[in-house]
Amino acid sequence: MTAPTPPLAGGQGGADALRPLLDTVLTALRTGDAARGGPLPAGGPHTTAARVRAALGEVLPAHGTGDHEALTTLVHTLAAGAADPAHPLCAAHLHCPPLAVAAAADLAVSALNPSLDSWDQAPAASAIEEHLTATLAAELYPTPHPDALLTTGGTEANQLALLLARERHGPRLTVVHGANAHHSIPRAAWLLGLPPTLTLPTPTGTLDPHTLDAALTRTPGPTLVTATAGTTDAGLIDPLPALADVCDRHGTELHIDAAYGGTLAFSPRHRPLLAGLDRARSLTLDLHKLGWQPVAAGLLAVPDTRLLAPLAHRADYLNAPDDTEAGLPDLLGRSLRTTRRPDAVKIATTLRSLGRDGLAHLIDRTCATARHLADLLDAHPGFELHAHPTITTVLFRPTPADDDQLATLRRTLLHDGTAVLGRATADGRLWLKATLLNPHTTTGDLDTLIAHLEGRTHR
Ligand SMILES: *Cc1c(COP(=O)(O)O)cnc(C)c1O
Repeated sequence: MTAPTPPLAGGQGGADALRPLLDTVLTALRTGDAARGGPLPAGGPHTTAARVRAALGEVLPAHGTGDHEALTTLVHTLAAGAADPAHPLCAAHLHCPPLAVAAAADLAVSALNPSLDSWDQAPAASAIEEHLTATLAAELYPTPHPDALLTTGGTEANQLALLLARERHGPRLTVVHGANAHHSIPRAAWLLGLPPTLTLPTPTGTLDPHTLDAALTRTPGPTLVTATAGTTDAGLIDPLPALADVCDRHGTELHIDAAYGGTLAFSPRHRPLLAGLDRARSLTLDLHKLGWQPVAAGLLAVPDTRLLAPLAHRADYLNAPDDTEAGLPDLLGRSLRTTRRPDAVKIATTLRSLGRDGLAHLIDRTCATARHLADLLDAHPGFELHAHPTITTVLFRPTPADDDQLATLRRTLLHDGTAVLGRATADGRLWLKATLLNPHTTTGDLDTLIAHLEGRTHR
């Protein structure tokens, strides 16, 4: 007896096959969330791993359990053991709660599975991507022919930026960045076979233009400066116009890693913080941070589409010259990947659903929540606030506490499943980090967070 062939997600019967399965998925998401009952599972890594092993048993059983059982088991286990960024006390990393509309749009992408390595695998998806990237690029650069590529995130965007710079300036290019830069910058230089990067100290948390000026003066050969708009640790924005001036004086190009802060450009209220952004030869931006997209949703933008020419690539089965001449769009130069998921669909759906005002409201609201948390901590005798937030990152310490106690407190909160907070070093000390990305977080939630911390601190 042979098992029935399982239904497909696409095609004539796809939607009808999916509907009951989705019902199962949604129920399991709900039961998993209820079983967890907090921002992450209690008990730490061993407990979670043991629960997963117990629930799953054999990953590949001799005989299948069927779609509904498999979905119920896996999705419930996943949700029960999730660090759920939609929980207001899950606020450690640049790990955003995705909007329901974006996740729903992504389901359609999974069902149809367009692949952006050739037009004949993604006719509408490739057109949606082109339309979206042109729009986003124009939001960031006021130039005649800006362009942008979708990436898996800031890491890939930074790699592409350094690759394009290497192709312009050769393999002796020295990348110059602050100690506040994302680790993916020096790692990209390593990957690309560039000389070791020059790391400049950033004792104030941002890259000082005088420090940069002095470094460029004493560094021979071609250089690329990378600045950060939204540091991962503290959410600080480098002084972009002054850094761009220094780069101009030295004839050096500037890349700006705005993975975190770049979406402030969509808020009329916060956009002024990004003054100077368009002076970069390339820009990194992540919509899976302050853009509420499910992973992955990264972007590399450039002021002129010709800057992307080094990525042109030929593979006869995907973009034969006669196919391209006959009008089939050539997509291979839009990424280093081959098979590629159309992340543009969820992003474009979200932008359409929210509109400019809706997106600005989400950004402004989330920034206001972070400011409010900082105010609460600042006014509280039991805490020391590092600084008022520029974007949505709040660094603070319980007082009195040394670095070891603080690291232990963070792990205790994780172990107990109470709160997910991050850690960052600033001014030579360790701080707790709350990265607020949840637009639904209320002042009551912030009070709860502080109450948890007080309980732990004074235990
Ligand atoms: C998050 C982040 C990155 C890396 O982005 P991924 O999407 O995680 O690859 C790079 N730079 C900065 C400043 C970031 O905050």
